[in-house]
Amino acid sequence: YVKEHIYRNGGVLNGKDLTRWYEGDGVTVRALDQVSFEILPGEFIVVLGPSGSGKSTMLNLMGGMDRPSEGELYYREQKISDFTSEQLSDYRKDAVGFVFQFFHLIPTLTAKENVELAASITKGARSAGEVLELVGLSDRMKHFPSQMSGGEQQRVSIARAIVKNPEILLCDEPTGALDSRNSIAVVKLLLEVRERLGCPVVTITHNAEMARVADRVFHMKDGKIVRVETNRCPVAAEELQW
Ligand code: ADP
Repeated sequence: YVKEHIYRNGGVLNGKDLTRWYEGDGVTVRALDQVSFEILPGEFIVVLGPSGSGKSTMLNLMGGMDRPSEGELYYREQKISDFTSEQLSDYRKDAVGFVFQFFHLIPTLTAKENVELAASITKGARSAGEVLELVGLSDRMKHFPSQMSGGEQQRVSIARAIVKNPEILLCDEPTGALDSRNSIAVVKLLLEVRERLGCPVVTITHNAEMARVADRVFHMKDGKIVRVETNRCPVAAEELQW
């Protein structure tokens, strides 16, 4: 695809010198240490780094689940680091789609009901049937999570995220609980979602192989983005060797 259209509109999320520390037992842990980034419309960003390097802390700030101790975070022109709790709640409900490693579907609701529940708290939601079709599950709508494979459950959780018509999609180890075949299918789907919705996708992973599909890779270490790698030619999901 042509990347120029991506860069035209300015950043969707901008972090400036974001720091998040935790105090406890007289020690201060700097989980995130003066991190700055810009995420552009339609970008596929992979955040790569060892356990404890600050990936989840950064994703939690991006998703409005946490606030920085210092620094500024902007969502388009709005300074979300100054948002009230109510504004942050609206931001999480309306602007952000989340995908988790262990799916977190409600076991007593069908695939369609799980997706409808997310749609019901969001302004401007899409239809549950339409997004389940988009993720290739039109024949699984009435299944409960326990009646689906891990790969299918992750598809439902992606449908649940995109039914909100999100401005940004955040994924925390989305392939961490899947075998190689399903992992590749999920990466392929995330790339398709980016194409269809045009929203940026930010995904945390331990798996360096996934970085090959990204437009840019944020390498993290000790609470910092130590390197930003730009892929001139991101590969297709099918080319990944899991
Ligand atoms: P990653 O996602 O890369 O594994 P995290 O963002 O979870 O890293 O953690 C970064 C650092 O911050 C780690 O040293 C972790 O122990 C610490 N940390 C994360 N959350 C908390 C918390 N709620 N209280 C204290 N320390 C935390």
